[in-house]
Amino acid sequence: KKIQIAIDGPASSGKSTVAKIVAQDLGLIYLDTGAMYRAATSVALLKQTKAPQEIISYIKENPISFKNTKQGQLVFLGSKDVTSLIRTNEVTNHVSFVAALAEIRTFLVAEQQRIAAEGGIIMDGRDIGTVVLPQADLKIFLVASVDERAKRRYKENKLKGIPTELEKLKAEIAERDRKDSTRANSPLKQATDALLLDSTGKSIQEIVQFIEQKAQA
Ligand code: C5P
Repeated sequence: KKIQIAIDGPASSGKSTVAKIVAQDLGLIYLDTGAMYRAATSVALLKQTKAPQEIISYIKENPISFKNTKQGQLVFLGSKDVTSLIRTNEVTNHVSFVAALAEIRTFLVAEQQRIAAEGGIIMDGRDIGTVVLPQADLKIFLVASVDERAKRRYKENKLKGIPTELEKLKAEIAERDRKDSTRANSPLKQATDALLLDSTGKSIQEIVQFIEQKAQA
C-alpha cells in the first residue's frame, strides 16, 4: 500500500524541513505544495495579472515540476528554474492573494492529487489533511510559537548570508498567519483526525522520530 502523510500548519512551523527528512528516511515522494502556490504567484507577477485563467493557462503550457538534486529540491516552471525566484519577498508578499483564488486552488489541488497517485508520498501545506488527501494514513498539524518560528528563519537567513532583523521577521510571520487565516476561504484548518504537534522547544529530530513512529505503527 502506498502510504500518504499530510503535514499542515502555519508558515515556518518546520513542515518542509521535517517532511524532507521523513521522505528521505521512508523512501516517499516529497511534495511542497507551498512551492506550487509560490510558482503560480511568480506567474501572476510575471504576466502582471490577477486573472486565474491566465495564470492557469500559462502553467498548463509551462508545468510546475520538481527535480531532486544534491543541492536539494529544485522547482521548475516549464524549463525555467524558479527555485530562488519563488522565495523572494515579492512572491512571499503576494502569495496569500493568489492562493485565495478559488480557480487556482482547484487547479493546483488536482495537480497535487495526480502526483499523490504516483506513489507513497508526504505532502506539506495548509489543506492537505482536509482537502488534498482526506484519506491520508497519517495527518500532522504542526505548530510553533511566532517567536520560535522567527528565530528559526533568522538562523536560516544567517546561514545563507541574508541580513535580517528578528523583530521584522516576527512581524512578517504574524502578518502571513493573519492573511492565511482570516480570509473567507482560508485553507489553514486542522483536520479532525490530525495529530496536533507543537514543535516549540523541540528538535527537528524529535519531530521526525515521532512522525516516523506513527507512520510505521
Ligand atoms: O508553505 P509556504 O509558506 O511556502 O506557502 C506559501 C503560501 O502558499 C502560504 O502562505 C499560503 O498562502 C499558500 N498555501 C496554501 N495552501 C497550501 C500551501 C500553501 O494556500 N496547501
